Amino acid sequence: MRSVEAVPCAVLDVPRDLSACVNQLCVKEWQQLWNQCTSNKLYSVQPVVGHSVSSSLGRYDSVLINRLRIGHTRLTNSYLLKGESQPVCEACHSPLTVKHFLVDCTRYSAARQRYFGVDTLEDVFENVASRNIIAYVTDIGFYNRI
Ligand SMILES: [Zn+2]
Repeated sequence: MRSVEAVPCAVLDVPRDLSACVNQLCVKEWQQLWNQCTSNKLYSVQPVVGHSVSSSLGRYDSVLINRLRIGHTRLTNSYLLKGESQPVCEACHSPLTVKHFLVDCTRYSAARQRYFGVDTLEDVFENVASRNIIAYVTDIGFYNRI
């Protein structure tokens, strides 16, 4: 009987290689299914599957980033469960949405420039570090309301 140490490395890598190959096939299938869901509003938030929030974030911060990505936060959507009217921005009285306070509202433009200088939601989530988004929502006082 051979010991594990006597088995060549190439033999030991077969399961790892097979696992990587299966993972690639699953992601490819998942992406093809996702590409057919263009009417789903989440598609515009994350068109590429398999992309995850940085693992360096704490649990709450990861949840917060995911809530912002899908555009559903307590701050902007709890009115639906409470049967209330949609909240409005205190500064400009526009409907309060994630897009509004992350990209559109002029009240927060100075803070946005400090943490990220992008103009679209896609840019925010594709090109801005999650810690900067967290710092921004903390700065504007929304961290504990998301
Ligand atoms: Zn506003």
